[in-house]
Amino acid sequence: MELDFEKLKVQGVKINYYYICKRKLWLFDKGITMEQNSDRVLSGKLIHEKSYPRLKNKEVMIDDILKLDIMQGEYIKETKISSKMPKADKMQLIYYLYYLKKLGIIKKGIINYVKEKRQEELELTKEEEINIEKTLIEINKITKMKHPPKLEKLLICTKCAYYEFCFAKEE
Ligand code: SF4
Repeated sequence: MELDFEKLKVQGVKINYYYICKRKLWLFDKGITMEQNSDRVLSGKLIHEKSYPRLKNKEVMIDDILKLDIMQGEYIKETKISSKMPKADKMQLIYYLYYLKKLGIIKKGIINYVKEKRQEELELTKEEEINIEKTLIEINKITKMKHPPKLEKLLICTKCAYYEFCFAKEE
């Protein structure tokens, strides 16, 4: 059965959070946003503003839902501080390629890891399309849950903007 994309489509950040922590995805979906307090997010924004200073097509908005860092020729380019979350970074960009394909736009992707001065090129394969569709179905299930997914301590928790929210009782 074909996926009801109009019903299931989400912001790219939700794909990213799905691959980082499902509880984070749920909290974000419920409007509990604490990312503005995170130094990491702030430095990410600053790095993004300083990247590709001569390019005009910075921050392309699509359907008020996707915010692409750069669209240039046959590529869309995303800037990340470092490759600590490679799967989440990759799937977010793959989702952008999938979304654009749904609009009849075929692109390739490049992730620019600023600290490591390294780029990774990605293409949308059939296998990745299936992965994105499964992810969208799972995200829909998680965001419909009445309560957040069970708390599990992950390596990234201490760096997460929701740390105090999740672990306040332990301190
Ligand atoms: S603090 Fe940990 S468990 Fe809580 S949302 Fe962040 S990553 Fe997930």
